[in-house]
Amino acid sequence: MNALVANSRLEGFYKLSREERLKLIADLCNLTEEETNTLGNPGEVDLGTLEHMIENVVGFMPIPVGIATNFRINGKDYLIPMATEEPSVVAAASNAAKGAREMGGFKADATDPVMIGQIQLVGVKNPDAAMEKIAGKKGDLIAEGNSVDPLLVKLGGGMRDVLSRKIKTNSGEMVIVHILVDVRDAMGANAVNTMAEKLAPTLEKITGGKARLKILSNLAMHRLGRSSATWSKEFLGGEEVVDGIIEAYSFAAADIYRCATHNKGIMNGISSVALATGNDTRALEAGAHSFACLHGTYQPLTQWRKGEGGNLVGTIELPIAVGLIGGATKSHAVARTNLKIIGVESSTEFAMVLASVGLAQNLAAIRALAAEGIQKGHMRLHARNIAISAGAPPEIVDKVAEKMVAEGKIRMDRAQEIIEELKR
Ligand code: NAD
Repeated sequence: MNALVANSRLEGFYKLSREERLKLIADLCNLTEEETNTLGNPGEVDLGTLEHMIENVVGFMPIPVGIATNFRINGKDYLIPMATEEPSVVAAASNAAKGAREMGGFKADATDPVMIGQIQLVGVKNPDAAMEKIAGKKGDLIAEGNSVDPLLVKLGGGMRDVLSRKIKTNSGEMVIVHILVDVRDAMGANAVNTMAEKLAPTLEKITGGKARLKILSNLAMHRLGRSSATWSKEFLGGEEVVDGIIEAYSFAAADIYRCATHNKGIMNGISSVALATGNDTRALEAGAHSFACLHGTYQPLTQWRKGEGGNLVGTIELPIAVGLIGGATKSHAVARTNLKIIGVESSTEFAMVLASVGLAQNLAAIRALAAEGIQKGHMRLHARNIAISAGAPPEIVDKVAEKMVAEGKIRMDRAQEIIEELKR
């Protein structure tokens, strides 16, 4: 049963102890004792499962999971688990979501979860005739593709279309076949790859060519998540900050160096949620960045403009290939628990949530940059990391960090001195 959270506006959540936060989330999301322990107690790590997830396993790498609060998307409240090593990501998302919430929250939508599989045909003598033949056999190809995944078809998914095109390459002309597959609630890589492999011999027969690669494309341009939201100019800090944000957006749209960082900020949010839920972060990153260059130049994945009353309106659109089933989403106990906390019912709802997280994350970053500069907030949170790296025991980490922030000296050498002073 997924969690349905009545209100994600958890005032003062950040001031609670970790144990208190976990208890509150467990209560709000109806987590069982086992799920709560899985998430909150490192001693509960299921090494047996981890050992079978990849090869040559020797251990595991704990990454903190934080809960982003305040998200309201299409009138529904969400608590959003984020796994990241980077300070300030969770706080920034929660804060931006609070501002969006004041103006009605995020309005999001998503396309059907249609993935692309590619079959590369080389040595095709007459590419145009071959492509015509493929088009003529579309019905048979779809039936053959679907035959390898009857469960997916039963669930309303399956192959939807077969398209082909010819490309000129350094190794000669090739015919590239795209199969479009509705993968329902899976990320879909295995589902699509299996279909592509099944169809390859048939495509060789039809075209007289040789099928080489049979693999999905991470540029999932038919599987888009979109979201939009408004932030009042008062929340952002006034008209000048709104203008600064729009100028920051113009900068990204005109300059690839800035745009890389603009889009990285968006993925700070999306990839953290993906990691927390056992999804493939690299697939999302590849999809996002290739989509950003779809029209020839690398562009921001968000757009910003001034709306009614001088408020700020943001929109985002990007490919979001995530699953609630398959991969590590169900086999990893923490991923399963985090999916329960997020409480989405389908991969399309998940895509809407992730698009909203990406938009919130971007707003938070460019607001900070346009208003006071990123380092003020970032270094405040980073101070804790410095304190830990300098060897501060857990009970004095906050004290060391606070002292460095108060002095404006957030540095390893100063942290070591403060630790010594406090120990004395
Ligand atoms: P999967 O094969 O484990 O699960 C998908 C299958 O589950 C479907 O084919 C279907 O038969 C079944 N299923 C049951 N209930 C379903 C439902 N409600 N909706 C959809 N399918 C349902 O997983 P997958 O999503 O096909 O593959 C994801 C994994 O593949 C990830 O771990 C990813 O890292 C990996 N991968 C990625 C790439 C890439 O991105 N380039 C390449 C290869 C593998």
